[in-house]
Amino acid sequence: MADVQDVFLQSQLLERRQKLETALASSRRNDSLRDLLNEVDSALERMRAGTFGICETCHETIEKDRLITDPLVRYCLDHLTESQRRALEQDLELASQLQRGLLPREHLAYAGWDISYHYRPLGLVSGDYCDVVPHQNESEDVYFALGDVSGKGVAACMLMSQLHAIFRTLVTSGLTLQALVERAGRVFCQSTVSSLFATLVLVRAGQAGEIEVCNAGHCPALLFQGGKLVELGATGVPLGLFCEGVYPTEKAEMACGDTLLLYTDGATEARSANEAEYGVQRLKELIASRHGLSARALVAACMEDLDEFRAGAPLLDDLTLMAIRRVA
Ligand SMILES: [Zn+2]
Repeated sequence: MADVQDVFLQSQLLERRQKLETALASSRRNDSLRDLLNEVDSALERMRAGTFGICETCHETIEKDRLITDPLVRYCLDHLTESQRRALEQDLELASQLQRGLLPREHLAYAGWDISYHYRPLGLVSGDYCDVVPHQNESEDVYFALGDVSGKGVAACMLMSQLHAIFRTLVTSGLTLQALVERAGRVFCQSTVSSLFATLVLVRAGQAGEIEVCNAGHCPALLFQGGKLVELGATGVPLGLFCEGVYPTEKAEMACGDTLLLYTDGATEARSANEAEYGVQRLKELIASRHGLSARALVAACMEDLDEFRAGAPLLDDLTLMAIRRVA
């Protein structure tokens, strides 16, 4: 039986075919449109014959994320022509630039908060989501978001930018944090290919030091508060799994010197040369021993410790770390 993703791609192709035919009917110079229509028909024919998604050179499976972004591809990455390869590299470079353009400033001071993050994609593009959004109405609330979209590469990068747009839009709406994440979950769910999802931790921080945290299936946020470390774990499932997810929040007060650390599992699941996992415990100990540092210095200390632990072993996933320190 065809999986849900194939059914989705087929319905997308049929819809685009319809649009092409409409364009063909009203266009006079239509050679390129006709070529495109032939390519769409050929892809639909491959779906019928059961050869869709198979490289025509080596007969291996074509990378799924490439099929999602372009169902007309017929060759795996290893068997592109020279000009196809060049075009792909240029597209990736552009996607990478666009994605970097979505990131907030790396070091920020805002309404009594000292904020710093490190964003390290595994390849040119990342499936990690990282944002800092001051509330745009009268309040001085600020929102911190860190997320991780399932999968890697271009498809994950596209979903990451979708999350970015959804949150940037909803933050201005005046919804409570819980309602905001629930609405975002529905929008994300309705617009996502069914097998993809995103974990996310969203924090609303007020000007008096109060924070509210919503954790949708993400790694626990680590709060170093008054000499003690508190884990703020998942309060709901990842976004995109169910359209009607419920997302309760947790509240805490941060005093001057308290620090909150958000990270993606690219950090805690990093491996050393002999396959040991970095783990959340080592990260907790690091924060506890270095809690006097500024946000920027703490992020740098975490990255240094990770690099030392890996001792040259390659990273396996996109990695993001964000430190939020109360300074007022
Ligand atoms: Zn191939």
